[in-house]
Amino acid sequence: MKTIEVKTGRSYNIYIEHGIIAEAGKYVREVSKAVRAVIVSDSNVAPIYAGTVEKSLKENGFETSVFIFEAGEERKRLATIEKMYEHFFEHNITRTDIIVALGGGVTGDMAGFAAASYLRGINFVQIPTTLLSQVDSSVGGKTGVDLPTGKNLVGAFWQPSVVLIDPDTLDTLPQKFFNDGLGEVIKYGCIRSSALFSRLENENAADFIDDIIYECVSIKRDVVENDERDTGERAILNFGHTFGHALEKLNHYSVITHGEAVSVGALILTKITEGKGITASGAAGRIKGLLEKYGLPTSTQFSLGEIVSATRGDKKSSGKGINFIFLKDIGECFIHRINNDEINEFFGV
Ligand code: MG
Repeated sequence: MKTIEVKTGRSYNIYIEHGIIAEAGKYVREVSKAVRAVIVSDSNVAPIYAGTVEKSLKENGFETSVFIFEAGEERKRLATIEKMYEHFFEHNITRTDIIVALGGGVTGDMAGFAAASYLRGINFVQIPTTLLSQVDSSVGGKTGVDLPTGKNLVGAFWQPSVVLIDPDTLDTLPQKFFNDGLGEVIKYGCIRSSALFSRLENENAADFIDDIIYECVSIKRDVVENDERDTGERAILNFGHTFGHALEKLNHYSVITHGEAVSVGALILTKITEGKGITASGAAGRIKGLLEKYGLPTSTQFSLGEIVSATRGDKKSSGKGINFIFLKDIGECFIHRINNDEINEFFGV
C-alpha cells in the first residue's frame, strides 16, 4: 500500500491499494465515530461497487444508506444536491455522521459540496473510481456544482477525512474515460515531472498505473499544501485548462471530455509559446506525440480566435486579466498573466 499525507487546514491520508474498496469500512472507521454513513454514487458506479462498500461499512458498525443519482455531468446541479439533502434528512444524518463519495469527479464534487453545506458541514470520504478523479479531483478539497451558465461556479473548499484509491476500479472503466484521465496525467508531466512524461513516452501507461497515480497525487498534494485556497501556485494545475474550458464551452459540454479538452488546450497553447520562443523547442511535438499515443485529440474544428474569445468569463480569470500557465520546457512551468486588452494581440487573433 502507498500512503500520501496531505497537510492542509485539516490533514488527511490518501491510501492507494488494490482491493481497498472491500475494506473501505475499516479506513472510514479510523477517521470517524459516526453512527450513520451515506454512500453517494451514480447509476453507473453504484451497481458495480456500492454493495461492496456498504457491506464493509456495516461490518465496521455503520448504519448505511445509499443515495443514487443518474450518471452524467448534466446532473451536477443544485437540484441533485437538494435531493441529497432530503435523503440525509430522511435518514436522520447528524453533524457527526459521514458521507462516502463513491464514483468519478461529478460524484465527488457533489457529495463533497453536500457534505460541506448540510448542517453547515459534515465529514466526508472520497472513494474515486475513475482515473481522472483518482489523479485529480478527489485530492485538494474543491467541491461544487455547475450552473446553466458555467461549470463549477458554486462550491466550497472542503477537505475529505480520507481518500481511498483502488486501481482495480479502472478495470471497469471504458477506454474513453481512461484516456480522459490520461489527459490530466500528461498535464502533471508537463508542469512538474519530465521523468513521468518520458516514462509515458517510453512505456505503456496501463502497465505502471500505480506509479502514475502515486506521482500525480504527490504533485497535486505538494501544490495544494502550498496554496489550499487557490490564490497563487495552485494555478499551475490549470495548464491547458483555460483553452480546455473554452473548448468544452464551444462543444456545449458534450462530445469532448474534460481530459480531451485539456489535452488539446495544452497542445495549442504550447505550439504558440514555442513559436514565440517562450517554451523550449520540441516540447509541443512531444506533447502531440503523447496525445496520439494515448488516443487523445490533437486538433479541433474551432479557430484560435473562437477559442480565445470563449476564454472570456472563464472562472480562472481574475480582475482584468487571465493567468495562463506556460511551459519553459517539459516538466517546468510558470504563471504568465495577460491583461484582457492584450489577449488578442498576444495570440495574434
Ligand atoms: Mg481538470
